[in-house]
Amino acid sequence: MKKPLIIAGIVAAAIAAVLVFSPGAQFVVGGAMVNLGFRMQDHLEEFDLAHGEHLKPETVYQRLLEQNALAAKVREQFPRTPRHPLVAMVVCMDARIDTEELVGDTRKYYYVIRTAGSALANKELEMLELAVANGVGTILLTTHTDCAAEKAAKDPAMRAKYPELVDAVDHRAEVDKALLARPMIAKKIADGSLIVKFMHIDTETDQLAQLPGPR
Ligand SMILES: [Zn+2]
Repeated sequence: MKKPLIIAGIVAAAIAAVLVFSPGAQFVVGGAMVNLGFRMQDHLEEFDLAHGEHLKPETVYQRLLEQNALAAKVREQFPRTPRHPLVAMVVCMDARIDTEELVGDTRKYYYVIRTAGSALANKELEMLELAVANGVGTILLTTHTDCAAEKAAKDPAMRAKYPELVDAVDHRAEVDKALLARPMIAKKIADGSLIVKFMHIDTETDQLAQLPGPR
């Protein structure tokens, strides 16, 4: 069978399932459809900026604007429903990690903080506290395999070249402790309305595992 026919068949079956089955099935099938969409796009190098090393930055920027204009046009047809996130995730800015692929749809129930080396600064601590005040009950502080920031922190030449970055990685655990010690955060942890987990992401497999201790 030809590839477009197979894809059309899967889409038709998925729609049928959404119409017939439970909300749980709709959630799973919806996720599969999102994934199918990504897989349909994955091989289209023409639209993939990562494969355009020969492109000039200005061309890349213009293409980004074109893609955003398209996305905004689609969004216009489907207005957003306001949601209150229940989870906040702190994740390194490494481009190989996609939080949507890690845990599903992060648009509605997640605050996602992407930083260099997943290290927090004071402004993020305040933002996390604000998120908790707005209903977040789970905070994930992550690390990941093959982290460029962690590698830099272990390399003397890189340490000299990127002092701010390695400083952030060096003090990551200390800042985490400061987060846990903030009175409002500590109180919520003590009364069970907030949990803070230290997690490790396998960059290759997207596997998320709890760290034995602080990161
Ligand atoms: Zn990293």
